[in-house]
Amino acid sequence: MTLPPNVHAAEPIPTAAKDAIDDLMQSGDLFRYTAPQDAPVALLEAEFAELLGTKYALAVSSCSAALFLSLKALDLPRDARVLIPGFTFAAVPSSIVHADFVPVLCEVGENYRIDIADFEAKLDNVQAVIISHMRGHTSDMDAIMALCDARNIPVIEDAAHSLGTTWHGRNIGTIGKVGCFSFQSYKMINAGEGGILITNDADLVARAVIMSGAYEHNWKKHKGPQGDNSPELEEAFARWQNKLPLYNLRLSNLSAAVIRPQIPELARRVRDGLANHDYVAGRLNTSPHIEVPAPLPPEQRAPDSIQFNLVGMQEHEIRAFAEATEARGVKVQVFGLSEDNARAFWNWKFLPETFDLPRTREMLMKACDVRLPVRLTRDELDVIADILLASVGEVTGPMPVYGT
Ligand SMILES: *Cc1c(COP(=O)(O)O)cnc(C)c1O
Repeated sequence: MTLPPNVHAAEPIPTAAKDAIDDLMQSGDLFRYTAPQDAPVALLEAEFAELLGTKYALAVSSCSAALFLSLKALDLPRDARVLIPGFTFAAVPSSIVHADFVPVLCEVGENYRIDIADFEAKLDNVQAVIISHMRGHTSDMDAIMALCDARNIPVIEDAAHSLGTTWHGRNIGTIGKVGCFSFQSYKMINAGEGGILITNDADLVARAVIMSGAYEHNWKKHKGPQGDNSPELEEAFARWQNKLPLYNLRLSNLSAAVIRPQIPELARRVRDGLANHDYVAGRLNTSPHIEVPAPLPPEQRAPDSIQFNLVGMQEHEIRAFAEATEARGVKVQVFGLSEDNARAFWNWKFLPETFDLPRTREMLMKACDVRLPVRLTRDELDVIADILLASVGEVTGPMPVYGT
């Protein structure tokens, strides 16, 4: 019998990373700005921009740092209001508070995506938005961009969990003005910690580069597309020289050495992650008590976990279900039920304003989260699906049979 897999164990890092790290150990050259050119961090930026199809990339210490710098780079007045979905990770409103702005929360529907009516209703009183594609679920970017473009409101995409996801064939993270990604261990590329922002806007990237800690003339080591320093980028750096604070959120060469050999693995990870997810979704959807929301039609997902709603179950049954799965070796997180959950908006007590989001709250009270690392085998996926289905059956009892 296959045992429930350890869903927290990571995939091994490609061995090419070892050689790159050995070189760094020999040279001691760990700081991105020591070498005159081609530091691992700079090469990572060029490769990542090329992978996603943008002009510029800036690698930093985390996705949260990328979100913070993106907000600061927008040059908004202090206390500007920034709209975000009410279902996201606590680090997202935190980046807004850190930037001296005010988070505004909108409703999220049962399918984990932004409620466009509530988003539109709140849009006239905000100066920027962060679209957090939570757990890689893409909100309706056509509607969001049309609404924001009509009002000239800049869109930052929190694509931390969306590397490899596309919308109408276009990479998530390239639709808004800036896209931010994470290299934290639970994301598609694992460096323990790390993040990167991408954009086509020379002025925005110049501001972000300087604030990330490119002091004096270190910005000269940041290149545009094809390695050249375009006049527009040079002019932007010259414009902002000495005018911005340095927050020092740089990435180390060691992290870049761990990230770069994983880039060629991404397409496989995305393919396997989606196949695994869809296989488990198909099995779970055979239960009348489980609903895995469908992707939006333009969306091609890149999941490494699965989310589903429990249908027609009371809170005590939902708690009993989570206990039953855990007893069998599969951990289910119900976002709204576990104590101090960082994805439940009522736990963000650091917010300057509070929000009443009844629809989001209702969703969080029945939405379940199970990790499905892309390396799992079909047998391991079956063990997980069997345990989830058996646990839901145990808690709800046999389904009544109506008629014939
Ligand atoms: C992981 C994650 C973050 C934070 O990323 P860090 O690199 O840990 O700062 C932000 N938003 C979402 C949607 C995430 O999944």
